Amino acid sequence: MADFDLIVIGAGPGGYVCAIHAAQLGLKVACVEGRETLGGTCLNVGCIPSKALLNATHHLHEAHENFAKMGLMGDAPTVDWEKMQAYKQDVVNGNTKGIEFLFKKNKVTWLKGWGSIPEAGKVKIGDEVHSAKNIVIATGSEAASLPGVEVDEEVIVTSTGALSLGKIPKSVVVIGAGVIGLEMGSVYQRLGAEVTVVEYLDAITPGMDAEIAKNFQKILTKQGFKFVLGAAVQKAEKKDGGASVTYSLKKDDSEHSIDADIVLVATGRKPFTDGLGLADLGVEMEKRGQVKIDDHWATSVKGIYAIGDAVVGPMLAHKAEDEGMAVAEVIAGKHGHVNYGVIPGVIYTAPEVANVGKTEEQLKEAGVEYKVGKFPFMGNARAKAVFQAEGFVKILADKKTDRVLGCHIIGPGAGDLIHEICVAMEFGASAQDVALTCHAHPTYSEAVREAALACGDGAIHA
Ligand SMILES: Cc1cc2nc3c(=O)[nH]c(=O)nc-3n(C[C@H](O)[C@H](O)[C@H](O)COP(=O)(O)OP(=O)(O)OC[C@H]3O[C@@H](n4cnc5c(N)ncnc54)[C@H](O)[C@@H]3O)c2cc1C
Repeated sequence: MADFDLIVIGAGPGGYVCAIHAAQLGLKVACVEGRETLGGTCLNVGCIPSKALLNATHHLHEAHENFAKMGLMGDAPTVDWEKMQAYKQDVVNGNTKGIEFLFKKNKVTWLKGWGSIPEAGKVKIGDEVHSAKNIVIATGSEAASLPGVEVDEEVIVTSTGALSLGKIPKSVVVIGAGVIGLEMGSVYQRLGAEVTVVEYLDAITPGMDAEIAKNFQKILTKQGFKFVLGAAVQKAEKKDGGASVTYSLKKDDSEHSIDADIVLVATGRKPFTDGLGLADLGVEMEKRGQVKIDDHWATSVKGIYAIGDAVVGPMLAHKAEDEGMAVAEVIAGKHGHVNYGVIPGVIYTAPEVANVGKTEEQLKEAGVEYKVGKFPFMGNARAKAVFQAEGFVKILADKKTDRVLGCHIIGPGAGDLIHEICVAMEFGASAQDVALTCHAHPTYSEAVREAALACGDGAIHA
């Protein structure tokens, strides 16, 4: 008899959610984790610590920019970087301990150490070998770098180093205008650093609805960000206690360099499957290093599944979690499903940016006839009251059926507002369904309703 029904390798949001849900479904489950703490990239060096720093620095910004406007007088706070770091670590610890508690509550065994799969049905950790009827690979991802850029995590850093800098830098060059680069760039920009973002493409946030990306860039520029677009980074080297980044502009091949205290390499992440022994097992891989899976998250080797950042798809914690839930269902003999068409994406800057479903560019390319309903936060009483009236909600709906096909929001609370449209899309709702739903006043969510109204006879407050 096998020691476990299921061993999950990796305790990030994909792995720990899979382990807990499989245990809820009655399976005997273990989860292997090589880090000292549970929660993976997300809780330790990703979503959670970055949001803690974004939260702290957002309050700092509010105190400096908006408190006096509301009659809140007195000296604006100064920054104690050590204390801010300690606050961030407390948030991380609280969350990682929380997963330990959930493992105990659900009787998931935590196998501590780095695991490998010597053969199907076996997981090896150090000298121990455990047998399992099923194995789920949930080993996540690691930061990708560029040729000519050597990361030391002190001066030339990935997001991991950027979360724990020894002091607040005066200047930062961010290589890559994606989500992580702009979030961490915002943190340091609000702390007073001069932030320059160097991006290979001609627009920021690749893949995002182009109108939103353009507005987002404008707003960030107003906040003090500098952007160098269409620039191919050649190298980044340490220099005089800081670093220098050399890039060439694609338009004329001219070469330039910028010096900064810190260089953040935010050029994306790559799947991490080192040390698992997948090649010896004959597990098929994708060209870009992900584990190849079928529609039920099964790899090419029977009894071995894979989820999360280690497989294709958006590298997002909630996508990993949904796959974790679904594969647990499949292994328990039930039906597991992930709707990849309705996975929201959020950037936690101020204003927040959120999206779900199709962009205008994707609809045009697919030849789908669509209509656009847009509403600016300038027409939203609540947003104006809190000095966050920048941005808008944009709903894309099928021209004939009115079915909601996508939504793109830049504005206050966008990361929460987007879920109304996720639910609407899951139910196959029309824009009119959203427009006919009563929304409490005064809330930011009224802007979503107004955008839905704008898909029909027109918004009221615009
Ligand atoms: C700075 C930053 C901010 C982010 N912010 C967000 C955000 O706001 N929202 C969002 O949705 N996503 C965010 N992400 C992405 C998110 O963190 C990942 O998509 C998510 O963590 C992927 O989950 P996962 O379970 O697949 O893998 P991971 O979270 O990477 O977890 C994998 C775990 O497996 C362990 N492991 C690997 N190999 C082995 C082995 N052989 N044996 C034992 N253990 C092993 C690793 O130690 C790790 O703990 C962010 C990422 C970063 C870096």
